Amino acid sequence: METISQKLEWTVLGDSELPEEDAALKAAALEAARKAYAPYSAFRVGAAVRLADGSVVTGCNQENVAYPSGLCAERVALFAAAAAHPDVPPTALALAAVYRGEPVAAISPCGSCRQVMLQCEDRHGRPLRTLLCNAGGTVVVPSARDFMPLWDPPPLDSADGGTPSAPQTQEP
Ligand SMILES: [Zn+2]
Repeated sequence: METISQKLEWTVLGDSELPEEDAALKAAALEAARKAYAPYSAFRVGAAVRLADGSVVTGCNQENVAYPSGLCAERVALFAAAAAHPDVPPTALALAAVYRGEPVAAISPCGSCRQVMLQCEDRHGRPLRTLLCNAGGTVVVPSARDFMPLWDPPPLDSADGGTPSAPQTQEP
């Protein structure tokens, strides 16, 4: 028998302790939350992704009457960032939620979003810091892997590490 233990460390920062760059990302996530389409839950979630080149891409939850057709704020933001900047690694993701106009306690990503965050890390080979924001403070999680420590991805069957290659043409 073998027992494996793992230590996880998160940092909790008050608003005055948050570095300027992270405070801006938190503000972007809160602003994005207010743009959410959440007619069923009224639970508005915003995500802001900072890329290695300093640009920021935001997303918010998009609900749908066919419930599984909607999408979480984290994936809206990460997929939008990947679509517009496929070669620029995301370095941080801030997450904030608003209910009936007021920020709520820090929330954490759902399982599907954690999966996408992890693959984002693996794709670019660098950690994705995650900021779980609320009105009073922010929980900083150093890597998406901290949310799913048992993740052991199968090798991607791709010649170039996951970026789709141009269609192959055959010589006549
Ligand atoms: Zn989610």
